[in-house]
Amino acid sequence: MELLFASNNSHKVTEINNILGNSFVLKGLKDADITEDIPETAPTLEGNALQKARYVHEKTGRDVFADDTGLEVESLNGMPGVNSARFAGENKDSDANIDKLLLMLKGKENRKARFRTVIALIIGGEEHLFEGIVEGTIISDRRGREGFGYDPIFVPEGRDITFAEMPLTEKNKISHRARAFEKLRAFLMSRNISSLCPEY
Ligand code: IMP
Repeated sequence: MELLFASNNSHKVTEINNILGNSFVLKGLKDADITEDIPETAPTLEGNALQKARYVHEKTGRDVFADDTGLEVESLNGMPGVNSARFAGENKDSDANIDKLLLMLKGKENRKARFRTVIALIIGGEEHLFEGIVEGTIISDRRGREGFGYDPIFVPEGRDITFAEMPLTEKNKISHRARAFEKLRAFLMSRNISSLCPEY
């Protein structure tokens, strides 16, 4: 089954290809001759993921999925959320984003947070949403060098090291993104099987 992933990030395309496995042929946007930035102007993760998937579907008519992720901090009413990438400004500077977040959390006792990934899939003209969440806490100083984004200050529930202190293979077993894509994989597998053997 061939699917388009509405992302220009070739690292992401490779990572998701690994999660989905051999039953699917995953193509990035270059393959669909889409080189422009896709609009992401919705106020929610769900809205952004759908906006990106619909944009590509309308241009190509092909089955497609898109994802959007945010860090939601409880004591900040879910901020930075959908603005996670640009929290401290348009240049998507992770270091500045972390500094801003730590400043806003200074003195706060409640440090609970979660990463949430939403995937919007358009297949056979139908829309489906999948969600993956990892709960955790925000520590007050950076630890670790792996990963990206807010990883150095996020400790997932049940662990005492940050995402940035874990090898990527370990993070990928429990991450929000892995959980959301596992749901997508299971959905596609069951659909693939039932289209190959309708009585299944
Ligand atoms: P995107 O929707 O995957 O591009 O993620 C939006 C923003 O959320 C990124 O620019 C990061 O700041 C943050 N983010 C997403 N996933 C992660 C993660 O696994 N670790 C740390 N930060 C993340």
